[in-house]
Amino acid sequence: MKLSQVGEFGLIERVRRFAIKSSDVRLGIGDDAAWVRARSDSWLVTADLLLERIHFNLEWISFYDLGYKTLAVNLSDIAAMGGVPACVILSLGIPAHYDTDQIEEFYRGLRSIALKSKIALVGGDTSVAESLLISACVMGHVPARPIFRRGAKVNEDIYVTGTLGDSALGLELLRNKEAHCAAPVRSFLVNRHLRPTPRLAAGALLAREKLATAMIDVSDGLLQDLGHICKASGVGARILEEKLPLSAAYQSIAGKMGASYALSGGEDYELLFCARPTDRERIQKLGRRPQVRITRIGTCVPAREGVSLLDSRGKLRKPTTGGFDHFKTR
Ligand code: ADP
Ligand code: MG
Repeated sequence: MKLSQVGEFGLIERVRRFAIKSSDVRLGIGDDAAWVRARSDSWLVTADLLLERIHFNLEWISFYDLGYKTLAVNLSDIAAMGGVPACVILSLGIPAHYDTDQIEEFYRGLRSIALKSKIALVGGDTSVAESLLISACVMGHVPARPIFRRGAKVNEDIYVTGTLGDSALGLELLRNKEAHCAAPVRSFLVNRHLRPTPRLAAGALLAREKLATAMIDVSDGLLQDLGHICKASGVGARILEEKLPLSAAYQSIAGKMGASYALSGGEDYELLFCARPTDRERIQKLGRRPQVRITRIGTCVPAREGVSLLDSRGKLRKPTTGGFDHFKTR
């Protein structure tokens, strides 16, 4: 049915059916504001804005995946603080010609990851718009000590979860339909782009065990996000290129591009963190628990050395490629 037939309130009624409650929610969708129980005296709060043609293209992503990804990228920010997500406020700007099925499909995707991560949908706002606009705000429970970008010290180790560059390659495959690669490789990489996995268990564990001294989620490319940790912490970094975790799918097609997608491709949503060398063994053990690979990729160095890459022949070089920046032309 067309949105113009059901209207704003008819749509909200439908959306409400997808709302997930949790014991923290004292009052959910339907009143002027939601009422949510806090577990401590503060919250982690994060927001993301997704605009059609800037962040996503409906030729490549289904409404289901879009709903999934919207929540995944927000949960990744909570993971990067070591928090546990509690609830989400989801606001939409929708072109008038849309069908209710399309929006319901979006909420179905959102619901599937919300159920997995036990997060409640407690409200939002809805408006007509020229193109699809999605704004999500997630609130999360704070760990005993949240992990900031600042906090890394010289000589500490640098780690990353999962593998890097898959998402950027997946996007490349979606954009370039001519690119030929084996079907399983393609589906792995495309899936990494469309349905990223927020590393919630790893983030919360690193906070609980007080292992990470600084942390960020890799959304704009490893080098760029590493740069944020370095700047906030007042350190430099040396990354060992051959240690970068690359998936088998990545290695099978990246070819001449080498590690460039892993270094600068965006939307990995892996966790990048620093830790004391004395905690190496504990971190290695921990890598088995949240069911995600954790790889040591480098070392924090004095700030004046900046960020550099050490290749397999022991040659040090300054990276030239940057990550993603909305306002800079590339
Ligand atoms: P108000 O005009 O007071 O902002 P609305 O009519 O916009 O109220 O919203 C009514 C209820 O529906 C509120 O609980 C609001 O949080 C919820 N809501 C509105 N739009 C959405 C949406 N896109 N997703 C989830 N909840 C929504
Ligand atoms: Mg409103």
